[in-house]
Amino acid sequence: MGNMLSKNQKNINKEFVTFFCPKCKTKENIPFSIIDMCDRNDDGDDSYPPRFSCQNCYGLMTTLYYKNYNGKVYEYKEDQNLLYIF
Ligand SMILES: [Zn+2]
Repeated sequence: MGNMLSKNQKNINKEFVTFFCPKCKTKENIPFSIIDMCDRNDDGDDSYPPRFSCQNCYGLMTTLYYKNYNGKVYEYKEDQNLLYIF
């Protein structure tokens, strides 16, 4: 019984963050640790999440959903082609 809480607290999505290329629709899982490192090193503009170049079309990949170390959430809405930041 006592083990149920700790089992539920395991965050299975924490290890990878899904990135998405709006140009060619490629999705890629990038380890959270890498994104977190990029985010912390980028001490300038935080209106955008860390982004990566697409290896297919050299477009700019952005995260579908990412919550950074400050608790800031970046979410991409595909249908509206906009990036919402909460
Ligand atoms: Zn692409």
